[in-house]
This record gives sequence, structure tokens and C-alpha cells, in this order.
Amino acid sequence: MKKLISLLLIVMMTFSCLCLSACGSGEGKAEDTNDISDALPVHVSTDKYRSYYHIWVCSFNDSNNDETGDLQGIIDKLDYINDGNPETDTDMGFDAIWLSPMMVSDSYHKYDVDDYMDVDPEFGDLETFDRLIEECNKRGIAVILDLVLNHCGTGHEFWKKAVAEAKEGNFDGYAKYYKFTDGLPGAKGWRQIIGTNLWYEGQFSPEMPEWNLQYEGTRDYFEEVAKFWLERGVAGFRLDAVMYMTDEETDGTEFLNWFYTTAQKYNPDVYMVGENWQGNSQIYDTYESGIDSQFAFPFATSGGNFAVAANSSGGKTLASQLMKYDENSAKRNPDAINAFFLSNHDMVRSANYFAGGLNYQKMAAAMYLLAPGNSFTYYGEELGAMVPVGYSENDAFFRGAMNFDEENPSGIWCTAGAEQEWPYGGAKQQSADPDSLMSFYRQAIRVKNKNPQIARGDITAVYDFGLTTICAFKVEYSGEAFMVIHNTDDENPCEITITEEMLNEPNIGGKLYAMTQTQMQSKAAEGQQAVTASVLTDRVLKMPPQSSVVLVDTSNK
Ligand code: CA
Repeated sequence: MKKLISLLLIVMMTFSCLCLSACGSGEGKAEDTNDISDALPVHVSTDKYRSYYHIWVCSFNDSNNDETGDLQGIIDKLDYINDGNPETDTDMGFDAIWLSPMMVSDSYHKYDVDDYMDVDPEFGDLETFDRLIEECNKRGIAVILDLVLNHCGTGHEFWKKAVAEAKEGNFDGYAKYYKFTDGLPGAKGWRQIIGTNLWYEGQFSPEMPEWNLQYEGTRDYFEEVAKFWLERGVAGFRLDAVMYMTDEETDGTEFLNWFYTTAQKYNPDVYMVGENWQGNSQIYDTYESGIDSQFAFPFATSGGNFAVAANSSGGKTLASQLMKYDENSAKRNPDAINAFFLSNHDMVRSANYFAGGLNYQKMAAAMYLLAPGNSFTYYGEELGAMVPVGYSENDAFFRGAMNFDEENPSGIWCTAGAEQEWPYGGAKQQSADPDSLMSFYRQAIRVKNKNPQIARGDITAVYDFGLTTICAFKVEYSGEAFMVIHNTDDENPCEITITEEMLNEPNIGGKLYAMTQTQMQSKAAEGQQAVTASVLTDRVLKMPPQSSVVLVDTSNK
């Protein structure tokens, strides 16, 4: 059983122009009589279950025209992410942010930290950071920081002192923070200090010397770092490179558990999500550390479960994969929170996964946004940002400038020449179009915010209805039952029966369509009327191609 939540602030929807039921523009109102989604309140999260927006700081928004995104730039765009008013639907509705590394570092990516307790001057200062937290608090947005505890940068004070001491044969001082050997060790990823026979561990690069995580001095320092940021109001951390936190003595989970319980001293509700880019079994293993989440890498990337299901109309397989993942992570940590996403800063942009274009992108978006747990949306993904052809091998090309307005490009750059393509235009262009990818994201997040039990519950059953194209799973939370159903068929509507065994009194609690009504009409067989909306009549649910429905059991209401 996952942690009970307190939904302290429940705001009733009084706003009449919410377009959930109108997102397939112009559909018949008469068919919507069994749709209770408009009556459901939007829940404002006060716990660890959130829809995250992943911001690559230097590419998001530049406040001072130096062609580098910065913290003030993020403050200036917070109303895009969440304006803090649940009654408006003009913002995206994300209620948490993951900031890419913003601590002091020489590199553009800042994954080699030279000072863990300050903001890189390119991005601002601590005063600006504190204002960012304050402005996020006003809007109900939680902020987590990207924290790199596996290695530091070669400009770190401890590393500079360690090298100087080690060269003099002193391994009892700062050298203890790192791992040195005299002579080349058998293991891979060790680097030589030029002009000596000393080697140190640096799996990623010579510029990223690895911390000795077993040394108590390192842990004291990390405790200071955690305290420093948690006391400034951050909600937690995205932990970089957890699969490398291994050595002869430990598989890394002991260290992660230590860091998690230590951070809880400064914020009992601290949230942590680990980057462990491996298969299911290694991810389940890392859940044993006790930290809340591990990114669900097998569901991400172009070959991951979401993209495959959307591209191949393979809904049934996806339902089983989701249930197995949900069950297995909970076996290793009863409080596990799934962390689903399509892409991140180390991957080709997710829009590149879908040769079929917009409808497939929407289908995949509904799949990960409406899955139990937390969702992570990489900035620009909600607009369909793409990596230009031929640039898929360079990380910088996954990290180009955000496009708030096609007519007024920002001109900020992470590295020279890296630029995303925006086939559907920028945020300003998409915001007004109810059929845009951006509008679809807003609607999907809203459906999740109106049905908060989906994020917090457990998948207790899957149903295939005899169709390989249907992804249907039951979620149970605190005595309430829900069903999430995706019709991944890109040609055909479906007609399925919801039995009493599944839900006592099913009712539609939110629905989404990838296709516009015009597209659905054109796909209808000659002489037949296209199914243009999801309709539930006497337990028979009709759904258009590439559509999603949340069913609520109203028998307890
Ligand atoms: Ca700037």
C-alpha cells in the first residue's frame, strides 16, 4: 500500500471553458452526458506525487541577453509552467521542476561540479535562487536539483588539494575523498595524473574524478550539501549516475540509503529520483536503497515500451509491462513511486521517435502522463521539439533553446550551433490551437490532476478485451478503483464492455483524443459514421482510434 496522501487544498472547478470534452473540436455535446470529468475538482498536490517539468537551465530562458538561459529567466516563465491558479487552463499544469545542474562548474552541462554550495555565475546567484524557490512556492511547484555525487570537477577545492598532497606522498588528508592507486589498476575508467605514477578513478572523463563514497569525510561533506539546499527550500534531488556508485565494498544501494536517510533529517518529505540507465532488474535492485523513485529507462527512448506501443498499436503488451513494473518496484520498496518519461537530456528528442507524427506523439504522451507514479516531461517535448537529421550523436543537440514564440526566437545556445527543430511552432503558436500537442499535454495533465488516485495507486489488474491494441489497467487507491484505457489502434475505433468485476458503476472521468474530428471522419468506413468521441452506454464503451479514457467507479460516491 502506497503512502496515504493529504489533499489539503481541493479547489472546485467552476471554470466553464475547460476544453477536455471539446478537444476533438466540435464533437457532439449530446454524447457527453455520462462524462463527469467537468465536475471533478482539480487537486493541488501536497505530497511527492507530481508532474515534473525537466528544465535544461542554460537553454530555457535568458533574462539578461547574454545568450545563456538563467534562473531569472525561469522565474520569468513560471506562469507558463504553472500560474498557481487551478481554475485557469492556460498554463501547462506541471507542479514540479527538475533543474539540470546549476552549481558552479566550468562546463556548459555542469555535471562536473567545482562548488556544490553556490549557483554558477552564468545562471545567477543564491539570492536569485531563493527568489525562484519563493515564486515556485507561490504556485505550488516543487523544485528538485540535479545532484552529482558520483564525481566532482577538477576545479573542486578538495580535488586540487588532494592532487597536491598525493604528489607529495600524503594520502591521509584530502586524498581520502577520492580513490588513488599507485600504478595502473586492473579496472577500467582509471586516469593517470600526468608526470606521476598515480591513478584515480574517473569513469566518465579525466575531468570527473570520482568521490570515495565510503570515506566518512565525503559523507560529512555531502550531508552539508544536502542540508544547504534543503534548508533553502528544495523538495529533493535527482541523483546523477547512481549505477556508477559502486566499488569493491558496495553495490551503491547502501550509499543511496545513507544519503536518503541523512537528507530526511533536514526535510522528512524529501523526494529523490535516481538515474540508473539499465534494465528492469537493475532498477528494481536500486529501489532497495529506499529512495522514492528510479527513472523507468526501459519505457523511454525510441525503442522503449511507450514508443513501441504507440508506433505499433501495441496497447495490450504495454499494460502488462506497466503492471509488472509497478508490482516489482513495490516489492523492493513498498513506497516506490514510478518515474515515467519519454526522453531526457541524454536522448534524441522524443518527437524523433514517431514517424507517424502528431497523433502518435499524443498517444505516447497520454501513456506516460496517465501511468501511476510521477511523469517527467523534458522541456520542449510538450511542443514536439525535434533533433535535426544527422545530429543524433551529439548530446548538445538534445539541449537546444526553448521555443516560446516562433516569431521571436530566443537565440540562446548551450553550445554553438545546437538548435532544435519545431515542426509545430512555438508555445505561443500552439497555445491557441486546441488540437496542438501543447494543448494535448495541458489536457492530459489536467485529467491526471482531476484523478489524483491514478498517480498514487497500484495497478491491480490488466484487461485486454480480446484486442492487442487495447491498453487497459485497473488502479486501486485507498478503496477507490479507476481504469485507464488507451485504444492504441491508429485506424479503428473499439467497442468494449466494462463488466461489474472491473468497475461497479463506471463513469468517464476524463478523456483524450489524438485525432481531430476531421481526421476521424476521414477514417470512417464508407456509409458508416466515425466514432468521434468516447461514449459509455450501459457498460459499453466506444472509443475512437488513438484515444484515452479514465473510468471512475462512482458506486462509492
Ligand atoms: Ca543569461
